[in-house]
Amino acid sequence: MQLPALPDFEPGWVWLAGAGPGDPGLLTLLALKALAEADAVVYDALVDERTLALARAGAVLEFAGKRGGKPSPRQPNISRRLVRLAREGKRVLRLKGGDPFVFGRGGEEALALVAAGVPFRVVPGVTAGIGGLAYAGIPATHRDVNEAVTFVTGHNVTGAVPDGLDWPALARGAPVLVFYMALKHLAEIRDRLISAGRPADEPAAVVSHAATDRQRTLVTTLGRLVEETEAAKMAPPAIVVVGPAVRLAAGLDWLGAIAGRRLDPDPLKLGARRETG
Ligand code: SAH
Repeated sequence: MQLPALPDFEPGWVWLAGAGPGDPGLLTLLALKALAEADAVVYDALVDERTLALARAGAVLEFAGKRGGKPSPRQPNISRRLVRLAREGKRVLRLKGGDPFVFGRGGEEALALVAAGVPFRVVPGVTAGIGGLAYAGIPATHRDVNEAVTFVTGHNVTGAVPDGLDWPALARGAPVLVFYMALKHLAEIRDRLISAGRPADEPAAVVSHAATDRQRTLVTTLGRLVEETEAAKMAPPAIVVVGPAVRLAAGLDWLGAIAGRRLDPDPLKLGARRETG
């Protein structure tokens, strides 16, 4: 197999890359190259160990995330660290879970590099809200289901449910809502959606540790979301998805099928109505 020509990873550069939600098979070629060549890898808690194991022997691995409930290193410290490593002439791989520019503070770190005059490249990754759902058999869009998909964070910079969001507009205008970082405030999110008009019997799912060997999926309804999430002890990191796309999991849980589960070829119950144009 002839791989395409990829840019050189030059000393003194920072590559700000996404590692995808877990499975190292979801790395991009650029992220893989960066792992193979980096002198320093500064990584977050969400980066899978199997991915870190791909780092070049001799690379220095630096953890820059939350561990054991301790607060994460302050963002300016991480940015300063990246600048410093680059100025030492290292090839610096800043590796983040999912995509660095989706709820990942990649933009903040990149701006710090700009301010310091450090050259950098951004390597997008598979974001959990798309790839993690796909590993649970839930397509982010499907022609018969939704013409838009909305990514929402379940908590803002202060840790509270975002107040700047127009919840009634979301409830009205976003057929499929994909929440990141939402487990902590799940009851409030459910209440806001239901009081803004979303039906309690609307399908909802929680996918935790998606695309890792600890992946678990809970399929339920918006009304029962909180109780069932607690009963099933679903733990972060988890994606929460609300909307009819969840019904497709009964047909498309391909990981479940590998494990022997039977898939429903008509999960939307369209029957003879189904015609492709
Ligand atoms: N930049 C990341 C998101 C970071 S915010 C991305 O693009 O995916 C952290 C949140 O991402 C978690 O709280 C969770 O909601 C989600 N997340 C990241 N990895 C996940 C995984 N493997 N399974 C489920 N959710 C995940």
